Amino acid sequence: MRDNRDMTHVVIIGGGPGGYEAALVARRLGAEVTLVERDGLGGSTVLTDCVPSKTLIATSDLLHEVSRSAELGVEVPKAPRADLASVNDRVLRLASAQSDDIAERVVSAGVTVLSGIARVADPRTVIASTPDGEVRLAADGILIATGAHPRVSADAQPDGERILTWEQVYALRELPEHMIVVGSGVTGAEFASAYNGLGAEVTLVSSRDRVLPGEDPDAASLIEDVFRRRGMKVLGKSRMASTRREGDQVVVTLTDGRTVTGSHCLLALGSIPNTADLGLDEVGIDTDDGGFIAVDKVSRTNIPGVYAAGDCTGVFMLASVAAQQGRIAMAHLLGDAVHPLDLRKVSSNIFTSPEIATVGVGQREIDEQGLLVDTAILPIAANPRAKMQGIHDGFVKLYARQGIGALIGGVVVSPRASELIHTISVAVSASLTVDHVADAFSVYPSMSGTVGEVARRLHRQV
Ligand SMILES: Cc1cc2nc3c(=O)[nH]c(=O)nc-3n(C[C@H](O)[C@H](O)[C@H](O)COP(=O)(O)OP(=O)(O)OC[C@H]3O[C@@H](n4cnc5c(N)ncnc54)[C@H](O)[C@@H]3O)c2cc1C
Repeated sequence: MRDNRDMTHVVIIGGGPGGYEAALVARRLGAEVTLVERDGLGGSTVLTDCVPSKTLIATSDLLHEVSRSAELGVEVPKAPRADLASVNDRVLRLASAQSDDIAERVVSAGVTVLSGIARVADPRTVIASTPDGEVRLAADGILIATGAHPRVSADAQPDGERILTWEQVYALRELPEHMIVVGSGVTGAEFASAYNGLGAEVTLVSSRDRVLPGEDPDAASLIEDVFRRRGMKVLGKSRMASTRREGDQVVVTLTDGRTVTGSHCLLALGSIPNTADLGLDEVGIDTDDGGFIAVDKVSRTNIPGVYAAGDCTGVFMLASVAAQQGRIAMAHLLGDAVHPLDLRKVSSNIFTSPEIATVGVGQREIDEQGLLVDTAILPIAANPRAKMQGIHDGFVKLYARQGIGALIGGVVVSPRASELIHTISVAVSASLTVDHVADAFSVYPSMSGTVGEVARRLHRQV
């Protein structure tokens, strides 16, 4: 039997990227690790949110590609259509397989995985309710990584059939005739784009004057134009008051009394942290008004030895940030070199068609902080590869510090922008200048050529 009296025992609540990445790091650093998970390894990321939505979008993107084929001289004899039952079966199969892969990786790394619901009893004890009864786990360090769930409203209750959260859409067997998406943040915009690409009539209900509030304004207005051009109805300044079923229809009533009738409604109203039943108040762990756990840049809560990572902290609701917060927490707890979380270097992507990828500071931070910045932007349509491929919508925009030319942020709107942003991300992360980026060869012809070209536009003679 292993003698583990000298080992640090870490207990992790939640097996999403915040939890399982931390578990792997903690094992590598020599800790004994127990992870308690309610639904399945991979968390909402893998089972209901990120992985399923991107798999659905892969089919929508394919259909969109095919719809452009005539421009490239290809005749498609019959309009292709998605068989949503097969699409959703594939989505769920992939999600479940990925969860199994992660479980295997975590278990083979030596992590003890308990299936159950956990709460913090005191700063050194976690209690897990498992199918075999309650288990008390003594811990030298605790990581809370319990994620979040979809917000619904009392006047818009999902029924899992026609009024849906993003977790429920994969049960659909047929393409909705008319999908009303309520909420035009990242999740709402992605699903509206996906169902539009799959061939459904889509109405996007946005409470703001434009879609994607808070995102790059040029990107948001471009995507709204694209949405409208592809037949989507975008209702700006339209706040939902209620959503109800009327037989086989769904009626969304807006606060000004207008109604929108469709076959289905997807509620994309934001997320609520899974922190209600964790015993946080009893232990004295600070949360904000929304229930998000307060953490510092090394994922510490206000209680020594108790850390939190991912969506339950609300720091930046991305799988990549959750994983990083979890890794940092373990490095801090277990005495490894710690690099505090730096949100100025996060790159993220909105998987609309075209995609919107960003890294570093954006226009809002520049305005708010009064940063002295040079900006250059070029439309992707001017790129030779884009012309060959029949790509018309998009741009590359870069922000550089005035004087020194250090790249501090960028936006790419284009198909596969999520891949193109990495060059800019490396530059921002390594504090490279626009000249470094301009001097690096890009392949001719390639979409990344525009990144180099925009960097050249920012060159200042010395
Ligand atoms: C539709 C959608 C699409 C998204 N797409 C992307 C994307 O493309 N890229 C990206 O980076 N991010 C994306 N995100 C965000 C991403 O999914 C989240 O940021 C990520 O899931 C956060 O990871 P986490 O580990 O904090 O939580 P989760 O992945 O939610 O995992 C938390 C886990 O904790 C478990 N749990 C909760 N309470 C308990 C308890 N008391 N005891 C035991 N277990 C518990 C849950 O069962 C869950 O498995 C998307 C989000 C949504 C909604």
